[in-house]
Amino acid sequence: MSTNNTTTSAYTDFHLQFIAGEWQTGKDDSSNTNTNPYNGDTLVEIQQATKDQLNEAYDAASQTQEAWAKQTPATRAAVLYKVVNILDQRQEEIVDWLIKESGSTRIKAMVEFSATRAITLEAATFPNRVHGEIRPSNTPGKENFIYREPIGVVAVISPWNFPLHLTQRSIAPALALGNAVVLKPASDTPVTGGLLLAKVFEEAGLPKGLLNVVVGSGSEIGDAIVEHKAPSLVSFTGSTSVGKHIGELANGGEYIKQVALELGGNSPFVVLKDADIEQAVKAAAFGKFLHQGQICIAINRVIVEDEIYDDFVERFLAHVKTLNVGDPNKQDTAVGPIINAKQVKSLKEKIAKAQEEGAKMILSGEIEGQVVPPHIFTEVTREMDLSRNEVFGPLVGIIRAKDEDDALSIANDSMYGLSSAVFTTDMQKGLRFARGIRAGMTHINDISVNDESNTPFGGEKNSGIGRFNGEWVLEEFTRTHWISMQNEPREYPF
Ligand code: NAD
Repeated sequence: MSTNNTTTSAYTDFHLQFIAGEWQTGKDDSSNTNTNPYNGDTLVEIQQATKDQLNEAYDAASQTQEAWAKQTPATRAAVLYKVVNILDQRQEEIVDWLIKESGSTRIKAMVEFSATRAITLEAATFPNRVHGEIRPSNTPGKENFIYREPIGVVAVISPWNFPLHLTQRSIAPALALGNAVVLKPASDTPVTGGLLLAKVFEEAGLPKGLLNVVVGSGSEIGDAIVEHKAPSLVSFTGSTSVGKHIGELANGGEYIKQVALELGGNSPFVVLKDADIEQAVKAAAFGKFLHQGQICIAINRVIVEDEIYDDFVERFLAHVKTLNVGDPNKQDTAVGPIINAKQVKSLKEKIAKAQEEGAKMILSGEIEGQVVPPHIFTEVTREMDLSRNEVFGPLVGIIRAKDEDDALSIANDSMYGLSSAVFTTDMQKGLRFARGIRAGMTHINDISVNDESNTPFGGEKNSGIGRFNGEWVLEEFTRTHWISMQNEPREYPF
């Protein structure tokens, strides 16, 4: 993989939006000031889009989609392979944007870059992987064909935490499969969540109009992007509360549409008494504090069997104390800044509430600007706020479980069901435990933070509907069409 950036000039003009194949100025009165969450520097000021500009984006997507779908699979795949190539050439530039716009540490930015590259490469294989079926018929003389066709126009709404990857995991499959896209990135990350990818696809030669990136306020275009007639599918990644609203909008208005909802999580990380404690400690620290805990599949609850609880806590505390906190641009920083002041405020409230509810705070530290150092709480119970709700920050509660059954009961005691993890040296026990967890994903002897482009990513319960990656997203971003052919005259009862 090349990381050489010297022959490519960096992308510019991120104050413009990509609508109908043109870089346009937003026409709304309001603007989005995009800042660096670590030092507050203004990165770019974006005039926001109006509803008319959103309509223009949908018109362009609707008008160009059919011709794109008719292109040969090889033509569509070639654009995706070119995107991979450009990502490689511009790796440093992209990583730099992830650090300065989303407060990613260098480690996290590299994790995100690799995941983005992987899903793009996977999507490049999709045009040639779509296949139909022939099914037998009980009607004499009939043949049944099942076709898979592009779904049409897809609306994509993405969050700020893994902006590049979580946008690309929707738009790359959507485009590869012959769809057109209208994307609304999160307000905190309009560049890495959309505009940067639009530059890459444009450079790769994607025909104009197929990918539109509209940066606008929730009040102006938030609901309109979902309610518009054009999209047949709304692919939303974000919080459960907004996801519920999107689900209602998508099916409560004039037009019924499919929704793919990837929502919040509350991942349990269970350490059973026969676990390799040292390995579990390292895993817990990485799975909790990567990107300051602002990951839907981050460890949210650490559940440890009574016999090893004190030992685990002591070693975990010692390990977490060694983590470097602060400037995300430094090579060895483990914990960088929180995305915005609102999130910092919510974390401060969670710290106060944990103490009020009787959790014991065994590690804390001064909050400087938007940098919140790791906070560890012990003697946390399943009823406390830290256990019940998604923390989305570098705070962690450690719960004591009486035994394996109790650990499983605590792990399943949640409205969410996204990811999960269990540590044990007994693989049979690990598999049995994993199968007992109600979640979309469970990792034995690893962290809950895992995403591979060829395995199903998604959750159940309040964590959402649908799956990303591999065949699962291929199915999600295409529609099924049963076509039957009556080869001989059929006899009708009247
Ligand atoms: P959010 O729900 O606040 O915002 C997500 C996106 O929705 C943003 O682009 C936002 O601008 C947009 N939005 C907000 N209100 C809207 C409306 N009324 N209509 C249309 N769009 C609207 O979430 P966030 O704070 O950006 O991200 C954090 C949340 O996302 C966490 O709960 C996290 O668990 C979840 N998340 C889930 C996954 C997953 O794969 N399951 C991945 C990452 C993040």
